[in-house]
Amino acid sequence: MKSFGLEIWSDDNFIINNDTININHASKPSLLQIAQEIREKGYKGPLLLRFPHLIEKQISTLFNTFEKAKKEFSYQGSFQAVFPLKVNQFPNFIESLIDVSQHYNYGLEAGSKAELIIAMTKTPIGAPITVNGFKDKEMISLCFIAAKMGHNITVTIEGLGELETIVQVNREFNDGFKKSITPKIGVRIRLHSAGIGIWAKSGGYSSKFGLTSAELLEAYEMLKKHKLLSHLWMIHFHIGSQMSDIAPLKKALREAGNIYAELKKRGAYALGAINIGGGLAVEYSQHEGRQERNYSLQEFANDVVFLMQEIAKSKGVDEPDIFTESGRYIAASHSVLVAPVLELFSQEYNEKGLRLKEKNPPLIEELHDLYRSMSRRHAREYLHDALDHMESLLTLFDLGYIDLEDRSNTEILVNLIIKKAIALLKSEGTDELKRLQNRIQEKYLVNFSAFQSLPDFWGLAQQFPIMPLDKLNIKPTNPASIWDITCDSDGEIGFNRDLPLYLHDIDVSKKEYFLAFFLTGAYQEVLGMKHNLFTHPTEAVIRFDANGEYHIDKLIEAQNLIDVLDDLDYDTNIIDKTLKYRIEESEHITKEEKRELLGKLYLFLSENSYLKTIQAIEEES
Ligand SMILES: *Cc1c(COP(=O)(O)O)cnc(C)c1O
Repeated sequence: MKSFGLEIWSDDNFIINNDTININHASKPSLLQIAQEIREKGYKGPLLLRFPHLIEKQISTLFNTFEKAKKEFSYQGSFQAVFPLKVNQFPNFIESLIDVSQHYNYGLEAGSKAELIIAMTKTPIGAPITVNGFKDKEMISLCFIAAKMGHNITVTIEGLGELETIVQVNREFNDGFKKSITPKIGVRIRLHSAGIGIWAKSGGYSSKFGLTSAELLEAYEMLKKHKLLSHLWMIHFHIGSQMSDIAPLKKALREAGNIYAELKKRGAYALGAINIGGGLAVEYSQHEGRQERNYSLQEFANDVVFLMQEIAKSKGVDEPDIFTESGRYIAASHSVLVAPVLELFSQEYNEKGLRLKEKNPPLIEELHDLYRSMSRRHAREYLHDALDHMESLLTLFDLGYIDLEDRSNTEILVNLIIKKAIALLKSEGTDELKRLQNRIQEKYLVNFSAFQSLPDFWGLAQQFPIMPLDKLNIKPTNPASIWDITCDSDGEIGFNRDLPLYLHDIDVSKKEYFLAFFLTGAYQEVLGMKHNLFTHPTEAVIRFDANGEYHIDKLIEAQNLIDVLDDLDYDTNIIDKTLKYRIEESEHITKEEKRELLGKLYLFLSENSYLKTIQAIEEES
């Protein structure tokens, strides 16, 4: 695990160079170098680094792969794609995405009014916008406004009620005007087939969205009656996120393809596109044999193109344009969360912590001997002896025969013996050793909030690749649990024997040690919650220039304390006045001191909630 599964999850985006993890692009800087440069500017706490070149890579790979599939099958329809905003709406992300996708006519998908406003503002005129989700009259009106601006916008109907509203809004917006402008209309179909995995709730008959066959026929009649058939051009489905298996997608494609062909033959002459939603999976696994997806992008593209062609041919209709709305696949890799380790919590278990006396209880002397003379040949036997002695010593303590120092020596010696035995018996990997390893895991206290930065770990047990930024030439041996700084015991990524994470034995009072959490670019940011009032971390965009040098752009610091409270609708004026008043009115301090305290207080209020860093390093530097 020296490489932390890099070959499984990193898609060649990162490489190990000597002892650091580096960006496998342009001048190949290390993440450590970038993180330190930002910290030197005074930003402490966790850092979210965004890499636009990785967004560009995903977009170009998506388009190129589908173009290749189209060529291979001589497919007549076009390939188009939009980014679903719900996956990441942050401006530093969206602006980078629009910037790097200029050559692809790439658009945005919106699922709410606020997202639609982003799409109307940021999508280049001509690039597609699709609008999904439940809509009221106002939202449909916004779609008409977008169409009148010149946007290439498709409204997806999720139910018959929405269609009625479209008919009504169309009348209000177009009756009496010289030129009638109406958005394109799509219909979301309710599929028989469902996705699999923890997110597979979007497809299937019980899904929240989509029209049944009976409703589809009714929608067709309604569109015909109101002379809107010329706008019906897209069939849409989405079978759920992080599709681990391709089989359900193939089933869904057959179903949707046949619905497309049937409607077209019935008379929906303008129908010309099939939108297969998102769902392309990301490989989050750090562990061999635990991969989360069983297909490649090329296989995915080939299947889509081939099946659509086959259905179109057999039913005698034109091959439809193919749309995708993959979000996770586009966004996940673009960001890395870098967070400093603040403390290790079982460091008391080192030799320095021993308080051996002139004369120790005999069992402790024996433990000490076992520890010193342990060799590979006797490791297992000594280990068992040590565990046995520990039981006896703890009983002696309960009965009042040994003191607290003896008990502390027992704990330290037994932990040292277990560690040594594990190291000596590494190649054997038995269950007993694994169980013991659980016991001696180190707790790494890390300056971040799992609720804010990895909500899917908290809510869905989604794993994210984790590794340190340096020391990668040294084999890490500490079974690690990661604690965040919230006061919530759920904010822990516990050591998992089946998916073990080992980190280095370090002394953070001497040298900083950072952990990086990868593939955090999809869903985590907006789903992240301000539990304990830890906010979105400080973020920066890392851009590479034509010479391959990197630049730290668009730094946005985590919200300061006053702004956090303002967001919760506290009256910050009252907070400010009250704090000031309480210092000024305090009877215990001098005038001089009051001035000093006020200065400090205002400084702290202007900073963010994350811990600044450990004292030892602050004093050193
Ligand atoms: C969420 C969603 C997507 C994006 O799914 P990913 O799994 O992130 O690719 C696409 N289309 C619709 C309609 C969605 O609701």
